[in-house]
Amino acid sequence: MHSHLPTAQEKALDVLQNVFGYQQFRADQESVIHHLIEGKDCVVLMPTGAGKSLCYQVPALVRPGSGVVISPLIALMHDQVLALQGLGVRAACLNSSMSWEEIQAVENAWARGYIDLLYVAPERLLTPRTLSLLKRTPISLFAIDEAHCVSQWGHDFRPEYLGLSELARFWPDVPRIALTATATTQTREEIETRLNLKQAKTFIASFDRPNIRYEIVEKTQVRQQLMRFISENHPDESGIVYCLSRKRCESIAEFLNKQGIVALPYHAGMDPRERAAHQYRFLHEEGIVMVATIAFGMGVNKPDVRFVAHIDMPKSIEGYYQETGRAGRDGLPATAWMAYGLTDVLQQRKMIETSQGDEAFKERSRVQLNAMLALCETATCRRVELLHYFGQDSEPCGNCDVCKTPPTLWNGVIAGQKVLSTVYWLYKNYQQRFGANYIIDILLGIHTERIDSFAHYQLSTFGIGKEYTEEIWHSVIRQLLAKGYLSVDIEGYSTLALTSRSARLLRGEEELWLKQESLVVSARSKNVMP
Ligand code: ADP
Ligand code: ZN
Repeated sequence: MHSHLPTAQEKALDVLQNVFGYQQFRADQESVIHHLIEGKDCVVLMPTGAGKSLCYQVPALVRPGSGVVISPLIALMHDQVLALQGLGVRAACLNSSMSWEEIQAVENAWARGYIDLLYVAPERLLTPRTLSLLKRTPISLFAIDEAHCVSQWGHDFRPEYLGLSELARFWPDVPRIALTATATTQTREEIETRLNLKQAKTFIASFDRPNIRYEIVEKTQVRQQLMRFISENHPDESGIVYCLSRKRCESIAEFLNKQGIVALPYHAGMDPRERAAHQYRFLHEEGIVMVATIAFGMGVNKPDVRFVAHIDMPKSIEGYYQETGRAGRDGLPATAWMAYGLTDVLQQRKMIETSQGDEAFKERSRVQLNAMLALCETATCRRVELLHYFGQDSEPCGNCDVCKTPPTLWNGVIAGQKVLSTVYWLYKNYQQRFGANYIIDILLGIHTERIDSFAHYQLSTFGIGKEYTEEIWHSVIRQLLAKGYLSVDIEGYSTLALTSRSARLLRGEEELWLKQESLVVSARSKNVMP
């Protein structure tokens, strides 16, 4: 046997194997850990399930002193502490759900150096009481979990996170690690600036989740589509269905139950005990489908979720990626399925325009929504699009719906011009804007009451779109929106307006290749297709 002092590498491996019971580090874990052991700051971007926790847990145990973990979710904190205690690690937390006695016990243990890892909620960390407590023991490192919460770009902004930049001032010699599963350039930059981590090294893991199959379909009858998706692909398996509203969660869960699929609603409007009970069942029973708003999922670690279904389009790719990322954490095949339609786009645009946010916020939201829309409308591999958004290049995956059934493209210049000129003439002649359905009725030459009352049957485009079905016109308008030839009017009534790009298409100066909807083809006879 050799008897030299163990190196940092050896100590880290020893902790990994003997405390956590794992044989080897995954991809980036080892370099992150060594970086921290050397006392240097870092930012870690790794997808959910990649193993971020060990990146700070191991060095906190190797370095002298006690580690402090800032985590935004009390439930998550509690689970982690219990898991660590089960491994014999002296872990504890401080949060608002604890009693005075519990808090005092933790504070006493901390002051004596009896705690290896202390989990603290961000709003608690920066109180004078906690700050003076922390000063009583040498600190090995600060880990800032869910660091994207510092970003106003993201969907989880928490103002308390902004205060965390102070850590560098109070403890200039203690290494800090910020971790997140959100890796867009903006979020990254905001984390680096706002948490005072400009000098820190950044570790970016691959964001690909090869075991997830992506599929995005056109929404027609969403309940039936969802039911068919589940029963044909994932019968009796665990899954999450994301909806936009609480009401919808309730009604979709009820619908699925009637179809013989065990489904439970989960949203912020429910009684907390009932909600906790639903989460418990989802985690501990097999084959439960959780029908949830985005309130559900952060920190929920269920490895065998076989599918995530979106029946409403998420606001951003970040959100989509986070939510779909909850599928297949065990590495086995899983599906990310989504149904979206023109109404989703219009509804989301309307929500942005009527929101209370300032113009900068609205602009960010529009950019995010457009990227999401582009992913839905892409004619190339979904995975390539998705990873490209996160700054990663990749090859077509062969495993998404687009790779499996590449869409047929058709020349949509004339169809596009018909839509745009209808929008144009309505505005030019009547100073009025209308929604997609109204435009489509005009193109199809339908004498609705409104059309007749405005005498819009006199428009030159009335009835010039009879060669296509209503569904096809929906698809055309969606793609025009996705490609920036149409926008939704600011008044907030989901009315359509031209953009700076529209004129070029109207003058025939641009090509327009549109995707043929496979669903429409299979549902209807082929001769109505372009
Ligand atoms: P994240 O925080 O990135 O979502 P976690 O830290 O929760 O991921 O880790 C996800 C899962 O992977 C956990 O069950 C964890 O125990 C496991 N894990 C992490 N690192 C390793 C490793 N080196 N070897 C084996 N399992 C690991
Ligand atoms: Zn693909």
